[in-house]
Amino acid sequence: MNSARVNLLGFDRNGLREYFAQLGEKPFRADQVMKWIYHQRVTDFTRMTDLGRGLRDKLLEVAAVTPPTTLLDQHSSDGTRKWLLGTDSRNAIEAVYIPEPTRGTLCVSSQVGCGLNCSFCSTATQGFNRNLDASEIIGQVWVAAAALGNVPHQQRRITNVVMMGMGEPLLNFDNVVRAMDVMRDDLGFGLASKRVTLSTAGLVPMIDRLGEVSDVSLAVSLHAPNDELRTELVPLNRKYPIAELLDACARYAARKPRSSITFEYTMMDGVNDHPDHARQLIKLMRRLPGKVNLIPFNPFPGTRYARSKPEVIAAFQTILMQAGVMTMVRRTRGDDIDAACGQLKGQVLDRTRRAAEFRKRIEEGVTHAA
Ligand code: SF4
Repeated sequence: MNSARVNLLGFDRNGLREYFAQLGEKPFRADQVMKWIYHQRVTDFTRMTDLGRGLRDKLLEVAAVTPPTTLLDQHSSDGTRKWLLGTDSRNAIEAVYIPEPTRGTLCVSSQVGCGLNCSFCSTATQGFNRNLDASEIIGQVWVAAAALGNVPHQQRRITNVVMMGMGEPLLNFDNVVRAMDVMRDDLGFGLASKRVTLSTAGLVPMIDRLGEVSDVSLAVSLHAPNDELRTELVPLNRKYPIAELLDACARYAARKPRSSITFEYTMMDGVNDHPDHARQLIKLMRRLPGKVNLIPFNPFPGTRYARSKPEVIAAFQTILMQAGVMTMVRRTRGDDIDAACGQLKGQVLDRTRRAAEFRKRIEEGVTHAA
């Protein structure tokens, strides 16, 4: 693509209308183009037959619809599918599709790598390179939709999107919010807000900011029921300890009366899976409406952690359920193609100094990544 051309995947509806206004075009033309892109999965302006020749020629000159390049498309024996998507000449990210009988969930990345350094996370071992722009985030959904034959409002293969892949989405706030707007727009992928979930390691100020501009579902990577252990697993906890995080979650839930927050809890053998941990977790869950997702840890080369035994996970779940805490155990999917939760790696050209600076900025309370 001519690099001077504007990638229309980077706009939400208002942004695209503004761009079309700059081209001297009416807003409904932008709406027509959105439908072609997201409902018909057409990227070639010459095929957008209701646009008129003049506009098509103009778009061919100044714009393009360019999703990320598919470098690898892997199929698991359980139906899970994983795409390795090139975002530039040296980096790649991963998106995963998990089909279930009643829904299809797409897990999407928000950054190339991640700088938060959670000790049990495969992505963290790759370091951090950069934020994805909005076109690269919505582009993951576009690529999956095209591969799966997804048609919004008609033949939905993607019923849910979770921002739970590589990266911390709240550190790439504007791009993530814009991409989630397209996911929920009727002219985009048309998903209900509760079917789009943002998962965060717990950036308290940004949770509040998200509550001001969006009503997507919120998931929080908790993984431990006390500060000492959580700081070991999720170093960001030093900056935003559990009490502050839960207060922010309560504020978010209060803005969205019908929503409940999901707390992700990765089960690691002998680390956070003792019955005492379950009892501590019950005390936390009394503070706000939420459900707990227990995720059996997915080992990766070089990790010091192991997966909790199935009977330990079952006992942990029982303790929580008996106390009235809604608790699910997530089934491990896509094991044979390294697509299971926490295993996404992509190809990250780690700019080590940049990753260190990034972590320092977070420690200092800067909540926007470059
Ligand atoms: S668990 Fe999430 S926030 Fe933590 S390092 Fe991995 S991708 Fe980043």
